[in-house]
Amino acid sequence: MTETLAEAVSRRRTFAIIAHPDAGKTTLTEKLLLFGGAIQLAGEVKAKKDRIQTRSDWMKIERERGISVVTSVMTFEYEGNVFNILDTPGHEDFADDTYRTLTAVDAAVMVIDAAKGIEPRTLKLFEVCRMRDIPIITFINKMDRESRDPFEILDEVEEKLALDTAPVTWPVGRSKTFCGSFDLANSTFRGNDTQIEPLSVNGPQAIADRLPENERAAFIDELELAREACRPFDRASFLEGHMTPVFFGSALRNYGVRDLINALGAYAPPPRDQVADTRTVHAAEDKMTAFVFKIQANMDPNHRDRIAFARICSGKLERGMKARLARTGKQMGLTAPQFFFASQRQLADTAYAGDVVGIPNHGTLRIGDTLTEGEALVFQGVPNFSPEILRRVRLEDAMKAKKLKEALQQMAEEGVVQLFSPEDGSPAIVGVVGALQLDVLKERLQQEYGLPVSFEMSRFSVCRWISADNPLDLDKFITTKRGDICRDLDGDPVFLAQDSFSLRYEAERAPAIKMVAIKEYH
Ligand code: GDP
Repeated sequence: MTETLAEAVSRRRTFAIIAHPDAGKTTLTEKLLLFGGAIQLAGEVKAKKDRIQTRSDWMKIERERGISVVTSVMTFEYEGNVFNILDTPGHEDFADDTYRTLTAVDAAVMVIDAAKGIEPRTLKLFEVCRMRDIPIITFINKMDRESRDPFEILDEVEEKLALDTAPVTWPVGRSKTFCGSFDLANSTFRGNDTQIEPLSVNGPQAIADRLPENERAAFIDELELAREACRPFDRASFLEGHMTPVFFGSALRNYGVRDLINALGAYAPPPRDQVADTRTVHAAEDKMTAFVFKIQANMDPNHRDRIAFARICSGKLERGMKARLARTGKQMGLTAPQFFFASQRQLADTAYAGDVVGIPNHGTLRIGDTLTEGEALVFQGVPNFSPEILRRVRLEDAMKAKKLKEALQQMAEEGVVQLFSPEDGSPAIVGVVGALQLDVLKERLQQEYGLPVSFEMSRFSVCRWISADNPLDLDKFITTKRGDICRDLDGDPVFLAQDSFSLRYEAERAPAIKMVAIKEYH
């Protein structure tokens, strides 16, 4: 029987993994793909520097520094559900990229290192999820090593994140004696993840017997306490973002990963409604709608291609269909949408709400773009953050100014940097949220365009998008402040100031002008 649209949509789970660097996000991703059947062998996780170029790591800078710079998507199917993992860069210098990716997910897995607890990046990313009411499943990783007491970790989550915790499983043993997870509600035990079905167990003693003798009595007490003192899982509270179900495991040693996949299937929500300017769009509507949250160029150095990652918000995308691009009102053919698996891409003949497809294009699509089957609507909420670092790009070979202009325009369209063109015609200013983004820009200008550049300080350090209820007020402000006004990629006016003091001063003197630090793409 063919599947209805509603059925296809309801089995999609689209999520991101959020973690402080080193907590085990990469290892967990690989194991999810492994147990989800997307790859034959997740490969012993190699030291990052010599890890073969399997997934998203195609950039030299990433290989050199052993950090995940770019975002990508990976899809796998497990027991009837289709899972889309959106990978986010762990490094905080790419925070804007991460935030945009989080606009495209319906749930998140928060990975915590069992020895370290909540770390600064975990907290920040959690806050973004909370702002967007994204439900979170917690995975306490590295239980095979010396770790904190589970109750202590749960307390920390409750206190630092103001989030109720509901341990679904409880770790059996610690560090060297860690040997699996016990499901508190169902009284089942799973050893490592090669065991597909958990075993029913007859009381805690049966589990305790798996531990060395001197740990058994303590384990039984602990289990009793966990059952009495911890909250039971409440799905409604989870979906509202008040409660997180907690799992314990070891991604490296294959513990707890299956519990996690099952939880994503059972608890994580199907594709959520998305807010557009004119109305709210429901995932199971017939007509296709999507928005672009990420652009990647030159994924394959052999073909200079550019892929726009689009999250489908409703309906069904079929290869060959025509879509309307809201920003320009023009039609574009979706002739070669792609799915991404562990190491390959594949043409996507059909994709449903919740799925993420890569759309190859030559610069037609930008971050924040909305695609529809004709309806004029624009999805809200893909943020553009005001950069914290502003620089002028200095070109070593002045003859190549035109080429640089084109290259910067392309980099800005991809979201690598933001580009500001001064109203007074002086050379463009680039803005980034984190310093590492400047390194990426420099590297790519050199590698992909043969343009050696350096960066010069600009006299500005803060910028704000400006608007006014009365267009005359805005015009007047722009005219009087011409030397401090730039246009962004969309032509929207931006006011640049030397420091936050002068920004405040100017803002007070021009009360009719609204100045914002976050622009939503439109
Ligand atoms: P990421 O920076 O969050 O992507 O972290 P990685 O997945 O690269 O893991 C960081 C380090 O922790 C690597 O050396 C992993 O092998 C190691 N690691 C990841 N998961 C586990 C685990 O469950 N147990 C142990 N002992 N080490 C782990």
